[in-house]
Amino acid sequence: MDATTITSWMREIEASVRAERDHLVQLDAAIGDADHGINMTRGFEAVVRALGADNGSTPGRLLIIAGRTLVSTVGGASGPLWGSALRSGGRALGDQTTFDGPQLVEVLAAALASVKDLGTASLGDKTMVDALEPAVDTLRAKVADGEPLPRALDEAAAAAEEGMRGTIPLQARKGRASYLGERSVGHQDPGATSTALIVRALQRAVTSAP
Ligand code: ADP
Ligand code: MG
Repeated sequence: MDATTITSWMREIEASVRAERDHLVQLDAAIGDADHGINMTRGFEAVVRALGADNGSTPGRLLIIAGRTLVSTVGGASGPLWGSALRSGGRALGDQTTFDGPQLVEVLAAALASVKDLGTASLGDKTMVDALEPAVDTLRAKVADGEPLPRALDEAAAAAEEGMRGTIPLQARKGRASYLGERSVGHQDPGATSTALIVRALQRAVTSAP
């Protein structure tokens, strides 16, 4: 995997958050302020534009550019959270030009650590962490078992989707939805939903790589 893997990951994210924009808005309307689909679409459209203008950056550098672009284009909580996640993931790659499965695990682990650091959410707080953490844990375990990366990523994406559905019965303890208290119960978290899309997008980008 190399810089083109990162570019296709970002393109896959942009296409899927755009396709799911209204659904993400509806989920956020129930327990937030109805902007999550707009935030994610605006952010990743800007990322795809920024990477399209790039000439020859390393994969790590592309992730850092993507992260910075999210921070500067997304006003909601998801912008700084995903922005710092992608920047941390990029820093984990340093200036290498290619990367393998174990290094991809490190990218995602750094992204998760940075989300938890900045947002101080733990598993079960009804946030994007509930989708991202099981995905990272699953990917790490499957890669360590020597599973082929496309299959490991498919299982990681399934774990993210399960974590996403698992947010429905939870009460939000972080972010805007936490202001609702018990009334946040019974709704799927928008950020966990877009996070599952982001992990699924990675699986597609890696699986379709030449
Ligand atoms: P805002 O809440 O500012 O309108 P968005 O609607 O774009 O931002 O994103 C909301 C999502 O961000 C939530 O569904 C949740 O998954 C995630 N989120 C909010 N606060 C935190 C936090 N402290 N830690 C992790 N994720 C968070
Ligand atoms: Mg919102």
